[in-house]
Amino acid sequence: MRNRILLLSVIITLIIAPVLRADEGMWIPLLIEKYNIKLMQEKGFKLSAEDIYSVNKACMKDAIVHFGGGCTAELISPDGLLITNHHCGYGQIQRHSTLEHDYLTNGFWAMSAKDELPNPGLTVTFLKRMEDVTEKVLNGVSDDMDTEEREKKIDSNISAIIDLAVDGSNYKAAIKPFYMGKQYFLFVNEVFRDVRLVGAPPSAIGKFGGETDNWVWPRHTGDFSLFRVYADRENKPADYSIENVPYKPLYFFPVSLKGVKEGDFTMVFGYPGSTSQYVPSYHIDMVKNYLNPKMIGIRSSKIGIMEEAMNSDPLLRLQYSAKKSGLANSWKKWIGENQGLDRMGTIEKKREYEDKLLQWISADKSRSEKYGNLLPRYKELYSKLREYNLAASYTNEVYFNYGIEAIGFSRYIKTLEDLIKEKADAEKITMAKINLQAIASGFFRNYNSEVDKKMFVSLMKLYGENLDEKWQAPQYIKLRNSCDGEFEKIVDELYKKTIFADEDRFKAFVMSMTRGSVVRLHKDPFYILAEGVSDFLANNVRTEYMSLNDELQELNADYLSVQIEYAQDRVFYPDANSTLRVSYGNVKGYYSKDAVYYTYYTTLKGIIEKDNPEIYDYDVPEKLKELYWNKDYGRYTQNGEVPVCFIATNHTTGGNSGSPVLNADGHLIGINFDRAWEGVASDMAYNPDQSRNISLDIRYALFIIDKFAGAGYLLNEMKIIE
Ligand code: ASP
Repeated sequence: MRNRILLLSVIITLIIAPVLRADEGMWIPLLIEKYNIKLMQEKGFKLSAEDIYSVNKACMKDAIVHFGGGCTAELISPDGLLITNHHCGYGQIQRHSTLEHDYLTNGFWAMSAKDELPNPGLTVTFLKRMEDVTEKVLNGVSDDMDTEEREKKIDSNISAIIDLAVDGSNYKAAIKPFYMGKQYFLFVNEVFRDVRLVGAPPSAIGKFGGETDNWVWPRHTGDFSLFRVYADRENKPADYSIENVPYKPLYFFPVSLKGVKEGDFTMVFGYPGSTSQYVPSYHIDMVKNYLNPKMIGIRSSKIGIMEEAMNSDPLLRLQYSAKKSGLANSWKKWIGENQGLDRMGTIEKKREYEDKLLQWISADKSRSEKYGNLLPRYKELYSKLREYNLAASYTNEVYFNYGIEAIGFSRYIKTLEDLIKEKADAEKITMAKINLQAIASGFFRNYNSEVDKKMFVSLMKLYGENLDEKWQAPQYIKLRNSCDGEFEKIVDELYKKTIFADEDRFKAFVMSMTRGSVVRLHKDPFYILAEGVSDFLANNVRTEYMSLNDELQELNADYLSVQIEYAQDRVFYPDANSTLRVSYGNVKGYYSKDAVYYTYYTTLKGIIEKDNPEIYDYDVPEKLKELYWNKDYGRYTQNGEVPVCFIATNHTTGGNSGSPVLNADGHLIGINFDRAWEGVASDMAYNPDQSRNISLDIRYALFIIDKFAGAGYLLNEMKIIE
């Protein structure tokens, strides 16, 4: 522990004097004043650190929310109007869509407040304040404590700090470790629970280019959707109610029509999810050579099955679109990541670095004692970790995470089963039954047993082929042996037998469930498999996997320490951890390969060039074509064209989707939504030459709202800078 506390000061001194370097880094808002503002201003930013983050005055942070926990969104009006990506609101848009009101296909625009659609379960979180609480968290923690004692002390300190932070308020608080636990920050948040859908373009705009264009530049996707935050009469968070009123924010972003040109300063302010910048070569080797190939393989099968179904029937398209998009997003990223890591020679570079580091460690006796064993320990650890990691991830892909859905779904009955078995009171059991009916309605709405059967046959085979037998649950082995691995022979019978693939049968079973039914339940083939796999994971994979991970955390903390000691002139920004961060850079094109240079923005002309009614992802809506042919562009132009997307050097990752992209004046010029293919490995290795974030040009969003959708009244509540 001593190392960690001492090294804290090392980090802080190092960051104080960042060397001028590439635009890599996701910075802590509270510390912008101290470490970044000078450089940002040199790059063109015209405002102060207080304009970004302050607890004394309204500032940018008051206009930004963590949207549903996975994306970012920002306020663009004094009446709680939020903008985020179409792909961030996709689940909500899909949930409101039916074959009669297919908002995914046709778009949705609430023409008045009463048409805005509530989204139970969706929350948005505002950061009220953050604080460095490292000393308080580590108070009373000493070198002679063992890990368990230390963690207990840290946990109890954390609970006390949180209790105090939210005392007497309706706020929520969390403490997150930074720099592998060398620093801790407290986040005090306000969470709003009534968030309504206001508008979304049709998928042919909001998801234009689909999976083909995802992670790729040049890009022409109008990736935005609009929501509104509602509050009670006191402007405080409240559950959905018709009495609620639009939330009055402390701050909202003015929207700029001025656009961008090459070299302009830009800044992205949002919630990046997770990065691994300081890991050893062994980690990259595990991800690139061990996990990614297998995970890409299984996802390809899942996506292929869903795609075939979606292309065969509009209802199946509705049912499977959100699931498929979610799966395909990471699938494609892994492919790009592997190519990027290859191209950059990241593993080789890390190895060279580690060799030098090892030499430096060996040159000093006390360093050797402290760190001499670190890399060999990593090597040994990763040789085990990768197996456990693959077993856990692959099993999850097969049985859960939109794999064989009827098997995954069967787990939901456990709560009710337990209550019945422990003879809970009747009221509790009835409530559990009602709850389960609701879950089932949600599940079966987007479920088709014929598609699931195909998934079953394919994934059962892959599970057998890609995981060594020692990682396969015995119940699976038994089933496989019973059919000689020819799952297509038993699939119909299994789906006939199980209660988890048919809504009526499932609901009837649940409603009449008693202690007697438990025996029947235990004979259900999918219940048996799911139970067997879950037990197997718990007993044979997870415990060891978690203990390897604990050891990894300790090694990571030491490894970061030694890297900081070694490279005194290197800037160490903390890895992303789903907390609010600032990235900054400049608008910039890039060479994708020899002699192929991509300029920094795309236009409506490019959409028309891609138009192909034969291909779902490139089928441009007639109305958009009309606007183009009539040059009916309104005020949303750049050099006589309608701009659509642009790229810049801001360091971003998943979770930054929907983040505001701001110009030097702090005005909204774009919505971040993706990264360019050649640089997607930036979660592990940012490459200044090719890492580019892709943003929707806000003028395209306004053009679509105004000219395409005829919902121009929404612009009236924005502050538009001409
Ligand atoms: N497309 C990503 C997301 O969905 C953004 C990124 O990874 O750059 O969050």
